[in-house]
Amino acid sequence: MHAPVHPTNVTSNHHCIFCDLIRGAAEVSMCYEDSQVIAFMDIQPVNAGHVLVVPREHYEVLQDIPRDVGQHMYEVATRLIPVVQKVAGAEDMNIVVNSGAAAGQNVFHYHIHLIPRKHGDGFDIPLPFPGSEMPNRHLLDAMAAQIGASLRNASMKSHATS
Ligand code: AMP
Ligand code: ZN
Repeated sequence: MHAPVHPTNVTSNHHCIFCDLIRGAAEVSMCYEDSQVIAFMDIQPVNAGHVLVVPREHYEVLQDIPRDVGQHMYEVATRLIPVVQKVAGAEDMNIVVNSGAAAGQNVFHYHIHLIPRKHGDGFDIPLPFPGSEMPNRHLLDAMAAQIGASLRNASMKSHATS
């Protein structure tokens, strides 16, 4: 688990644009703020009303986020979604997290995208991925069993150390 990096401790070799705007050193169009979480307009929106929900503390990826902060971000996102959708005149929303470089994350300060959507807007997150295959049930069962066993193992270890 990565240690949280307080915004004031973010050095030039660990420069973070979101920490900058949280401490007032960069322009931001804020639509929500509280002691743990802020939400602001994405600078290059997919569609009008594209909002980012962001913790005030610097955490990189989802698994770094303390449980209470993660839950609060989810609550804030859930409150914002119908409001943003209405204000943006959108039909629906994509709720997107790119967690890690290989997953397309560009700003390494964890954030949730709220992306207003309309039919025919040209944006897409195509799932199932075109060209992907359907593995047989044995392979799906084996992967599910492996994940379940690792989860039980991890929770036994965390109980042993607490
Ligand atoms: P991701 O690829 O999930 O890390 O997304 C990063 C998002 O941050 C992109 O949608 C960018 O347009 C957005 N972004 C980058 N810099 C800023 C900024 N200064 N203010 C608002 N949004 C930003
Ligand atoms: Zn940051």
